[in-house]
Amino acid sequence: MRFTIAWRNQIYKPWSEYYINYESLKSELRLPAGESILNDETWVSCLLDELRRSDAFFVQMGQGLLVKLSQLEDDDKSVSEVVEFCNTLDNLGNFLVMNYMAASKLAKTRNKCVIAVALDIRELIQMHNLYNLSRLNDLSTKVELLLLKKFPHLTSPKRSCMLCVEFPECQEQAPHPKRMSLDPTMQKSLHDASLQAGTVVQFTDLHYFNNKSKEDQEGIDLITTIVDRVKPDLVIFTGDIIDGRYCGAFSCFENIVKPLIQRKVYWTYVPGNHDDETDLFTREDLLKIYSLPFCASQHSSSFTHSLDVGPMQIYLIDSNGYLETSGDHAVYDYIHKDQIDWYCQHPTRGEVGVAFFHIPIIEYKTSRVLVGRRGEEPCTPKHNSGFFSAIQEKRDIHAMFTGHDHWNDFVGELDGIWLGYGRVTGSTEPSVYSDYSNSLFCPARGGRVVRYNSATKQLSTWIETAHGQEDGTHITKLIQ
Ligand SMILES: [Zn+2]
Ligand SMILES: [Zn+2]
Repeated sequence: MRFTIAWRNQIYKPWSEYYINYESLKSELRLPAGESILNDETWVSCLLDELRRSDAFFVQMGQGLLVKLSQLEDDDKSVSEVVEFCNTLDNLGNFLVMNYMAASKLAKTRNKCVIAVALDIRELIQMHNLYNLSRLNDLSTKVELLLLKKFPHLTSPKRSCMLCVEFPECQEQAPHPKRMSLDPTMQKSLHDASLQAGTVVQFTDLHYFNNKSKEDQEGIDLITTIVDRVKPDLVIFTGDIIDGRYCGAFSCFENIVKPLIQRKVYWTYVPGNHDDETDLFTREDLLKIYSLPFCASQHSSSFTHSLDVGPMQIYLIDSNGYLETSGDHAVYDYIHKDQIDWYCQHPTRGEVGVAFFHIPIIEYKTSRVLVGRRGEEPCTPKHNSGFFSAIQEKRDIHAMFTGHDHWNDFVGELDGIWLGYGRVTGSTEPSVYSDYSNSLFCPARGGRVVRYNSATKQLSTWIETAHGQEDGTHITKLIQ
């Protein structure tokens, strides 16, 4: 149902008749057995016809753009014409992605209810030579050169091929332009253990749709406001930041970190359960996000890793998504044994250890709330894989902060260790979701600050919203 809403919102209206007929194909699948007028074979051939139809439009538009491009190159055309050309190219890329997503969704539903050969949309597209990517890719490369020629004052290329994200074969043909590299002196100051204090801001559950909506923009603006006020050494995004069910391409992560890059603020990220909830990219693909400018985790090839912020040792843990066997996506995965082994063997550094991940562990259920709101029962994995026991034994993590439960923002305590939540940052529809829809309050969106001061040995945390520090959220403890 939710994809249908995203589909309606994201299709480019002037071309609406050329998209595949997603809703009617879907309604055929929804009819109870015996009532459907189409048998499976006919349904599949209808889908293929639809794909061919949208492909014909794609080819025609691609050819038109090719002609237009040569005109733009030859003549001294105005900037607005180049911009218009780029917009059309973007729309064509989106057109392809939306159709691909819709077809994948349809195939998935159809595969669930039909006992026959499973439909693989990628295979179908390749087999029938639909959506010739090299054409679009070619255009994308050429337009990048044209942009550099027309706007020589721009030092870094302003376009990247969004299709590379969706289709590896596209990436093989056109490597991404080289990213802005880190300033080594800044990187050093982030990790300098002789620094007296470290400040981290956690944002969580932004559920970014990448649909140019007011809610998407509100989330980005809030992040910017809080960062400008708190001026953290590092920003940590703890999952469900992009919503894979709607965002179309993880390359949209660039939009989220752009204000941080502009301000030269370091950031890092661990995924939640929704970031990769799509057929378009995998959790492993999300690691490419680490190559964006000012990511403090550029060194890491895993989401589970550690980095230092002055005297603080930050542990980033991938709490994984869903158990593969759960089918209906109801059961959450847990922190795996190899991750716990990695943690146990990883050297302890600094004066205080703080862990960040997305899905809370079972011990959250029994922790004693020190401050903040417990608006819902912690939604944890069913299986306890022993991460907390490992922490109790090693004793170098003094606090942990997760996201996932949009209605919880408390800091609890168990065996002297803080088990806390961030504050939900997003305003899109899933960010407002709660199992407890009768909940009386919808918290103001915000972020959590975690600060350690080496001089006073105090670890403190509180919640910031658009209006400043939220009353009654501040808590401090001594680290010995
Ligand atoms: Zn969430
Ligand atoms: Zn979640």
